[in-house]
Amino acid sequence: MNVLIVHAHHEAKSFNSALMHLATEQLTAAGYQVQVSDLYEMNWNPVASANDFAQRKNPEYLVYALEQRHNYEQQAIAPDIAAELEKLKAADLVIFNFPLYWFSVPAILKGWIDRVLISGVCYGGMRFYDQGGLKGKKALVTLTLGGREHMFGEKAIHGELVDGMLRPLLRGTLAYVGFEVLPPFIGYHVPYIKPEAREQILVDYKNYLANLDSLTPLRYPHMDEFDSKLYPK
Ligand code: FAD
Repeated sequence: MNVLIVHAHHEAKSFNSALMHLATEQLTAAGYQVQVSDLYEMNWNPVASANDFAQRKNPEYLVYALEQRHNYEQQAIAPDIAAELEKLKAADLVIFNFPLYWFSVPAILKGWIDRVLISGVCYGGMRFYDQGGLKGKKALVTLTLGGREHMFGEKAIHGELVDGMLRPLLRGTLAYVGFEVLPPFIGYHVPYIKPEAREQILVDYKNYLANLDSLTPLRYPHMDEFDSKLYPK
């Protein structure tokens, strides 16, 4: 099994980086082939622009998704995107490892999503959710945050986490392109807790990774529940 870890933290000694190294070592020891895209170390360019295309189907007006399709077909998409797509296509499991920024992903990771999850390969036409281009692959979101666990939930101050704060990522992105989305692993209140509590998070993550195969993916729409115009049947 091939694993790709997309890691988005600017500090090599960060707690996030410790989670990334733990996953790399543990999954490698378990026999997985692990690749890491360390976005800050790669100086990943997060800006989706005309510079991503060596050719233009329409030189007069940039429609980014259409040029993604065209340039992928012509093997003219930017080399940094092409390299990430090869890693993505080879992966059975993709782990997104990052600190929460403003209820969302850091900009550098958002830019990986915008530029790498391309139309024509990852989605397009009626290919989304369980028919998405990445069907058959699993995704795991591993994140840390400053807030405490009780701040998230139906009546909590920040509202729902999985179906609220993380919905654009878990559903609108990962489930949409066809991943089976595993329940996220979350380290709460990370900068403020005692070192022993952080070490416990690492132990919990180790156990989580040891049981990946027994995790039930989150439930998202199936295309056969909708008609050709996407009304519910
Ligand atoms: P670090 O600061 O790197 O580490 C925390 C501590 O862990 C440090 O003392 C470090 O030395 C120690 N450590 C490192 N390795 C280990 C190890 N192996 N074992 C034990 N300890 C270790 N939070 C929210 O809740 N909601 C938000 O919307 C939100 N938005 C943010 C937006 C921005 C722009 C920023 C900068 C932060 C935001 N935060 C938010 C907070 C952010 O999510 C947390 O600060 C972050 O997740 C903490 O993780 P880290 O890896 O950066 O921790």
